[in-house]
Amino acid sequence: MDKLGLLKNFFGHTAFREGQEALVDALLARRDVLGVMPTGAGKSICYQLPALMLPGLSLVISPLIALMKDQVAALRQAGVPAAYLNSSLSFVEQNEVIRSARAGSYKLLYVAPERLLAGDFLQLASDVEISLVAVDEAHCVSQWGQDFRPSYLQIPQFMQELARRPVVGAFTATATAQVKADIQSLLLLRDPLSMTTGFDRPNLYFEVARPKNKDAWLEAFLARRPQQSGVVYCATRKAVEAVCQRLAGAGVSATRYHAGLEDQERRQNQEDFVFDRARVMVATNAFGMGIDKSNVSFVVHYNMPKNIESYYQEAGRAGRDGEPAHCALLFSPGDVQTAKFLINHASENEALTGQQREQVRQRELRRLEQMAAYCKTTSCLRGYLLSYFGEAAPEACGNCGSCAAQLERRDITLEAQKILSGVARVERKYRRSLGAALITRMLHGSREQRVLQLDLDKLPTYGIMKDLSREQIRDYIDFLAAEGYLTLDEGEFPVLRLGPRAVRVLRGSESVLYACQAQSQEEKRSANWGPSSGPALSVQNASLFEALRNLRARLAEEARAPAYMVFSNAALADMAVKQPGSMVEFQQVSGVGAVKAAKYGQAFLEEIARWQGETSSVPEA
Ligand code: ADP
Ligand code: ZN
Repeated sequence: MDKLGLLKNFFGHTAFREGQEALVDALLARRDVLGVMPTGAGKSICYQLPALMLPGLSLVISPLIALMKDQVAALRQAGVPAAYLNSSLSFVEQNEVIRSARAGSYKLLYVAPERLLAGDFLQLASDVEISLVAVDEAHCVSQWGQDFRPSYLQIPQFMQELARRPVVGAFTATATAQVKADIQSLLLLRDPLSMTTGFDRPNLYFEVARPKNKDAWLEAFLARRPQQSGVVYCATRKAVEAVCQRLAGAGVSATRYHAGLEDQERRQNQEDFVFDRARVMVATNAFGMGIDKSNVSFVVHYNMPKNIESYYQEAGRAGRDGEPAHCALLFSPGDVQTAKFLINHASENEALTGQQREQVRQRELRRLEQMAAYCKTTSCLRGYLLSYFGEAAPEACGNCGSCAAQLERRDITLEAQKILSGVARVERKYRRSLGAALITRMLHGSREQRVLQLDLDKLPTYGIMKDLSREQIRDYIDFLAAEGYLTLDEGEFPVLRLGPRAVRVLRGSESVLYACQAQSQEEKRSANWGPSSGPALSVQNASLFEALRNLRARLAEEARAPAYMVFSNAALADMAVKQPGSMVEFQQVSGVGAVKAAKYGQAFLEEIARWQGETSSVPEA
């Protein structure tokens, strides 16, 4: 079978996504690759498909036990002979896997990096033909990535032990130039085909909200989509506990996940979520690596994450089935402080020197700033994200909070001039700058001791904005900073300085348009965003879709596998539209491969026939 045939047969896909085919072709031609794609873009196909076509065995090096187990289970469901080797298996089980691998029973073997140099594994590796080594989460080899794993440095060493060098495919979702360069040099990639694609997730709707009351916002958000399942990320364990409790109190079926829970409970809660027994998962960022639940319809960030990479990866867990999904970030200025605290008190990475640690810290603070700027920008959110990752983006995507909001633009040139000249005065008088809080107080005309101590009341700009509230002044300052009229210096006490665009405003040659979001766009949107935002199904089809979902739940329960491993929501939706009447027609459904068709086809065909019989006897209303 050719690669398209195999793609359909084993994975149920009729076409490659952007970038996949080029990476597959390169590996098949034995050229190394470096594939940079975000989570959910479809990296696994890029090495799984070549593994099926190349002779012998392919190794997949993966850092997370949960990830391996999950991927191998999914592969087996699809009929691909695969196995994994890690410390979660007993000694006897490990020996069994090694024995079967030697006998040629697998095409793919997932292995933890710590394992590579172990004697029994090296023996196996020299006894069988290894055609391909795929390195998943390849950024772990770089100490600049936050997930540095020294064991990844054993990979090149391992390959040197092999009689013949396999082709190497490195895959990651981290796109910074530094990390890419590290991967290429540390993994000793040879003239790799380097490809960065797929960062755009058109089905994700991005939104930044600044609710006064996050809990009320969240409850309303969930109430509008009672059928949907999703994740709420919080910055701290404490917040996870509080939010989860409040949701449960409000009657939402919610569970929780963070590193402070016992293993047993964590596993249980995760399963409840994956198996659709709990609809909402409230979690810290400890949750998600390796969770491949495709029907996640929303990801809400209760707090701002510490950088865009984390945000995009976590938000990207929504809509992996390609259906419309909602990613909302609830921003409050305090989140920046919390994130700063977490960066400054991060557990120290033993593998780094003091100087390197300081460099990492500075870099993280810089990334935090870029995250905060995302929360404050009024231009297209998707555009901001894509350009961050180095992909081209249109001016306006039409599917994000900024694009969708009816932005009410107000001319605040006068207010801006007052603020900017306030900042300029302070700089001139003191030959130094002050933070936003003090500037705000000065403009507002505060009598606070600190203001008087610094003689700020002697400045001509003192109190020139006393007709506005402090919050309003602060809002304008944040806006001016986000738009480049002001800059916020780094450091423990960030200070305001004039930004590159300030001069033109002070001269009166540029006017400033403030975009204040019409309040509660979420409410407006919900009017055309039904509770179950599945694919466009007619009412009739929707009832079939429900029937198929129930069948899937039963089959999944029997197979002790998560529902999405039987079929994705997208596959069920296509089934509900096409309503196949035979096995041949069934195989035309998108997301249905040969093995799954053989396994589950009969049951679904019967259910469709049953539903058709039932609905045709019901008189039209
Ligand atoms: P990654 O490893 O990049 O996070 P995965 O390989 O797990 O992403 O793929 C994410 C999802 O995309 C899976 O549900 C997978 O079935 C789907 N997918 C991958 N390639 C294709 C394709 N060519 N067509 C349709 N769906 C695809
Ligand atoms: Zn947009």
